[in-house]
Amino acid sequence: MTYPDLHPEFRDRAEKLLGPKGFRTDDETRDAVSAPWRGTYQGHTPLVARPNSTEMCAAFVRLCAEYGVAVTPQGGNTGLVDAGTPHGEVTLSMGRMTEVRAVDAINNSLTIEAGAPLVRAQEAADQHNRLFPLSLGSEGTATIGGLISTNAGGVAVLRYGMMRDLLLGLEVVLANGEIWDGLSGLRKNNTGYDLKHVFAGAEGTLGIITAATLKLFPKVAKSTAWISCETAQHVVDLLALVRDHAGDTVTSFEMIPANAIEMICAENLAIRDPNPSPLAWRVLCEISMAREDHAREVLETALAAAFEHGLASDAVIAENLTQARSFWTIRETIPLSKRAYGTAVNHDVSVPVSHIPDFLAQTETEICNAFPGSEIIAFGHVGDGNLHYSACEPKSATMPVLANHERAITDIVHRQAMSHDGSISAEHGVGRLKRDELASLRSPAATQAMKAIKRALDPQGLMNPNRVVSMD
Ligand SMILES: Cc1cc2nc3c(=O)[nH]c(=O)nc-3n(C[C@H](O)[C@H](O)[C@H](O)COP(=O)(O)OP(=O)(O)OC[C@H]3O[C@@H](n4cnc5c(N)ncnc54)[C@H](O)[C@@H]3O)c2cc1C
Repeated sequence: MTYPDLHPEFRDRAEKLLGPKGFRTDDETRDAVSAPWRGTYQGHTPLVARPNSTEMCAAFVRLCAEYGVAVTPQGGNTGLVDAGTPHGEVTLSMGRMTEVRAVDAINNSLTIEAGAPLVRAQEAADQHNRLFPLSLGSEGTATIGGLISTNAGGVAVLRYGMMRDLLLGLEVVLANGEIWDGLSGLRKNNTGYDLKHVFAGAEGTLGIITAATLKLFPKVAKSTAWISCETAQHVVDLLALVRDHAGDTVTSFEMIPANAIEMICAENLAIRDPNPSPLAWRVLCEISMAREDHAREVLETALAAAFEHGLASDAVIAENLTQARSFWTIRETIPLSKRAYGTAVNHDVSVPVSHIPDFLAQTETEICNAFPGSEIIAFGHVGDGNLHYSACEPKSATMPVLANHERAITDIVHRQAMSHDGSISAEHGVGRLKRDELASLRSPAATQAMKAIKRALDPQGLMNPNRVVSMD
C-alpha cells in the first residue's frame, strides 16, 4: 500500500512532539487503522498519532493547523458509516488516553478519558456500586470518544436515552489546538449555548474529544423474558401493554424475527431457540428495578395480561443471569450470522413505533416484488422504533438477484422509512456513507446551519473532512 508523503518539517516536529510510542508510520500500525470493522472498503493514512495526554493532543492539533494537515480522530474503529477510517488524513488514535479520572458516587458522575472502551466506564461505575447504562454489541472495543461522537444508542435507550442523554460535560481540543475544558458534573447549568451537544454526534468534524463526564445511575436487578408473538402489530401492542404495567422500568425491548433465529442455529450448533415456536417473532424484554423479585413480579403480571389480550402466545422468564445472557447472545449474534448469506444489504432506520408494522409489511412487499427470492431480516431496538433492516439472499440461490442491486434496495428501504416519518440513520450516524443522501433529505435551512457551525469551529476544514456535511 502507498501513502501520501508528509511535509518533512511537519514530520520532524510531530515525531519530536509525540515520541516513539505516539508517532507511528510503520505499515502494520497504519494498516490496522485503515480498514473498517466489516472490511467493506480500504482507507489509508500517512501517520498514526497516539497522544497520551490532552496537552500532547492539543499541541499536535496545533501543529496540524499550522501545516494545514487534515486529521481523522479514531477510537475503536467500530463505526459503521465510514466516519473514523482515514482516507489520506493523519489518524489521531485515542488508544493511549484510557484513564478513569474520577468517580463521584454521591453526585452520580464519572469522568473518563476518550480512548477508554465502554466496558471500562461500566466497570468503574460498578466498582462504586453504580451503573453506567449504555450497552451495545461493540462495548469491549468502542470508546467513550467514539460513542459520544456518534451519539451511540444500543439496547438500553428506552430507559436511559442515547449517549447524548448520558453526557454531563466534555473536554475538547478545538481545531486551532485550544483546549475547551467543559468537564462538569452539574445537572443544572443554564448558561447559554450547551456546547457539549455541538460535539456529540459531530463524528470528529468539529474537534477532538479528550475526556467526558458521564451520568451514573443506581444499580438495578433485571428480569428478562423471551416472548413469542404472531405479528409485528402484536409486538408493538405488547410494548405498550408492558409499559402500562412497568412504566419506565422497561429497559430493553428487542424484536427478533424467527428466520434470524433459524439462521443463527444453523450456523452455530451451540445456540438454540430458548422456546421454539412456529410464530414469526420473538421479543427480548428486560425490566429493571431495585429488587429482582419485584422486577420478575411486574414482568409476570404484564405477561399474564399479554396472554389474556392474545398479544403473546408463549414466554420464558430467565431463571438466572446465565439464562438471561443466553437470550442476549442470540440477539447479539444476528449481525455476524448474516455471513451465511451471499448478499446482505443492511440498513439502520427508525420510524415511530406505531408505524413499525406498516413499514415492515410495505417494505417487504416492495423488495420482494422487485427482487423475488429476497429474504428479509429486520430486528432491533423496537422500543426506540429503530430497526436494523436487511435484504438477504442465500448463498445457495441458483439465480442471484440482489448482488449489484444494493443501491436500488437501499432506495426502497430509505424511501419507505421517510414516507413513514422516519430517519435513514437511527443510531449509526452519517459519516461518508450517508452524507450526500442526507443532504438531499434534510431542509436547506438545517444544512446551512450545520455548515455555518462547521465553518465557525473549523475554518480550515481540517477536522475529519468530508464526513457528515459536505462543504462544497
Ligand atoms: C458488533 C457491533 C455492534 C454495534 N452495535 C451498535 C448499537 O447497538 N448501537 C450503536 O449506536 N452503534 C452500534 N455499533 C456501532 C459503533 O460501535 C458505534 O458507532 C461506536 O459509537 C463507535 O465507537 P468507536 O470508538 O469505535 O469510534 P470510531 O469507529 O473509531 O469512530 C466513530 C466516529 O467518531 C469519531 N471519533 C472517535 N473518537 C473521537 C474523539 N475522541 N473525538 C472526536 N471524534 C472521535 C471518528 O472520527 C468517527 O467519526 C456497533 C458496532 C459493531 C461493530
